[in-house]
Amino acid sequence: MSFENFHLDPSIMEGVRELGYVTPTPIQLEAIPTVMQGRDLIGLAQTGTGKTAAFVLPLLHRLMHSPRGRVGALVISPTRELAEQTAEAATELGRHTGLRAVSIYGGVSMDLQNRKLRGGAEIIVACPGRLLDHLWKGTITLSNLQVLVIDEADRMFDMGFLPDIHNILKCIMNPRQTLLFSATMPPDIRKLVREVLHNPVTVQIGQTLPAETVSHALYPVSQHLKTSLLKELLRKTDTESVLVFTRTKHRAQRLAEQLKTTGCRTTSLHGDLSQNQRQIAIEGFRNGYYKILVATDIAARGIDIEDISHVINYDMPESTDNYIHRIGRTGRVNKNGTAFSLVTSEDNDQIRALEKLLNTPIKRITLDDFDYTRVPSPKAHPAQQPQRRTSGMTGRRRLQRTQRKPQRIGAE
Ligand code: AMP
Repeated sequence: MSFENFHLDPSIMEGVRELGYVTPTPIQLEAIPTVMQGRDLIGLAQTGTGKTAAFVLPLLHRLMHSPRGRVGALVISPTRELAEQTAEAATELGRHTGLRAVSIYGGVSMDLQNRKLRGGAEIIVACPGRLLDHLWKGTITLSNLQVLVIDEADRMFDMGFLPDIHNILKCIMNPRQTLLFSATMPPDIRKLVREVLHNPVTVQIGQTLPAETVSHALYPVSQHLKTSLLKELLRKTDTESVLVFTRTKHRAQRLAEQLKTTGCRTTSLHGDLSQNQRQIAIEGFRNGYYKILVATDIAARGIDIEDISHVINYDMPESTDNYIHRIGRTGRVNKNGTAFSLVTSEDNDQIRALEKLLNTPIKRITLDDFDYTRVPSPKAHPAQQPQRRTSGMTGRRRLQRTQRKPQRIGAE
């Protein structure tokens, strides 16, 4: 099966070829024909499955013959990074269509966005808060809207955006096609689906297993020794670029500062940074200037950075879904990747769930000349104190949430 079978407009096919897409991914195979028939769709898939093109391609096709200069498609995204990337994908895939995509999000000047909007755009990719500002000021109108995409709906719900989504929906009067993408289906998202989608087709791409090119290792350690162990690990390991995940923004910021003192070019990515700071961090890491990026899950979500040699979980993620999502950034396109996790006794439930999912025990490694017996200093920084889980979920519930049957689709 190739992209030719979808009968997309020839100008869109030019963009597909230029991006080097040859074979559609499973979500594209299932979603594109359905969306081209005009049906509403629920896509149960994560970032990394090719879901962006799965909605962007049919959306471009549909807008080919609609009035220019009026917003025909709206994609609502949870984060600025995802909004940027989706707008970029629409621009690249639609390069020969004459359709224009604009990203809209907070933290940057309204005037600049107004100027971009006045230049004309048929596709808007927006975060909910700033989109509402524009709708209320009348700088964006949705009277010609034909397609609405709600992307990463579960993440939007986690971030408290559901009331904003309802307010946005109130601004859309005309009938439209609605596509909703979500990695999971919590009850509030099911409710949203019932309210907003009409007779939708559901396309589910099973939970992806990590690529076989990724090797996993656990480094058991006490909470207060994590930073010292990480420094030692980085000193002893041959790495090209390292993405480190922490559970909170403060821990990301603090850890990045501590790693900088080792002389390694390090930056951080978290929700307390301005848009400009985030872009500098992402770009610097992407182009190899920074060797280490310390990030939180939400900030790193949707970021498409390839060629990461190591992903290190300074804090274990809340669920196996998140583990797979994090380490999906290494071992891409048949390169070898490595995933290290610094684990404490609090992580035992997750480790069991992960080993069950991978269907194999994960090797535990201790460093020979590292002093694991050191006691915490009385003035230890909060980043080195044991962390309480933030979700309020017990280990058993986390486990239940992560015991879905996986399906391997290979590395992106
Ligand atoms: P996404 O899940 O939409 O974030 O896509 C993940 C990555 O896969 C992006 O870098 C896309 O450019 C790439 N991609 C999407 N579809 C294809 C395809 N059919 N063939 C090759 N790469 C693709």
